[in-house]
Amino acid sequence: MSYQIIDGKAISEQIKEECRKKVAAYKEKGIEITLAVIQVGADPASSVYVRNKKRACEFCGMTSLSYELPEETTHEELLTLIRKLNADDKVNGILVQLPLPKHIDEDLVIQAIDPKKDVDGFHPQSVGALCIGQPGFVSCTPAGIIELLKRSNIEIAGKECVVIGRSNIVGKPMALLLLRENGTVTVCHSRTKDLKEVTKRADILIVAIGKPKFITGDYVKEGAVVIDVGIHRNEDNKLCGDVDFESVAEKTSAITPVPGGVGPMTIAMLMHNCVGSVELI
Ligand code: NAP
Repeated sequence: MSYQIIDGKAISEQIKEECRKKVAAYKEKGIEITLAVIQVGADPASSVYVRNKKRACEFCGMTSLSYELPEETTHEELLTLIRKLNADDKVNGILVQLPLPKHIDEDLVIQAIDPKKDVDGFHPQSVGALCIGQPGFVSCTPAGIIELLKRSNIEIAGKECVVIGRSNIVGKPMALLLLRENGTVTVCHSRTKDLKEVTKRADILIVAIGKPKFITGDYVKEGAVVIDVGIHRNEDNKLCGDVDFESVAEKTSAITPVPGGVGPMTIAMLMHNCVGSVELI
């Protein structure tokens, strides 16, 4: 069967270009958009993400303010900075790069961010708004997956959608977004009985299980759309996803690759959320 490769890189570039134009239009009206990015400690993977976020801001014409705090920063020091940024009218979005060092309570930090500046969409108020269909910021990775599907002309309404994974940042908001798009949604997790039997019902299968190449061809219905959220490095230092692309792709009608699928969409949707923040401030 021939299948479509969903080109996340191209779609993410389209979205960033749209953001760039909107930022320029705001600038003409005298409105600047500023994102504050906070990193605590020097985790190398986090540093790469932070650098990419700053680059994307630059591309879109937004200002990024960078706060690189030492590993031993206290909970209170971090909260003081967040409160200062909450009160600063020039700051539209606040992003705290996760994970945080063990001595800092991530939940309390997320809750300290003003929901109007919560461009990551992790604040309980943002999640609650998504749940009851009210406007608010949506977590970037699942929001990016909806864009991938829509811009690839893949219909969601009425489809059997199966999400593997129920994390707060991917699985749960993903399920809510698919529901909002009128999909019939099932969420699987580590206690799901007979995972294969459930995934084989899926017209659209979203895989966020966090295990390299876990999903093989025998989990997938002929003609399904498969979205691979996973990012891992294998023994050869090459990137791979949660899906075993070689055995799955032939069975699908469309599939995202790793790299170049969901990954680039996360930052593009962060830019989209930053642009959206102007309406909320
Ligand atoms: P996570 O917090 O580790 O969640 C994994 C989920 O998979 C959990 O809900 C877990 O169930 C479920 N699970 C584990 N083993 C299972 C099994 N055998 N059968 C069924 N379900 C199982 O991961 P995450 O943060 O959602 O991330 C998932 C993947 O996406 C990771 O590879 C991560 O690196 C990647 N990711 C990529 C991006 C991006 O920008 N592309 C962004 C975020 C994450 P329980 O809840 O029962 O434990």
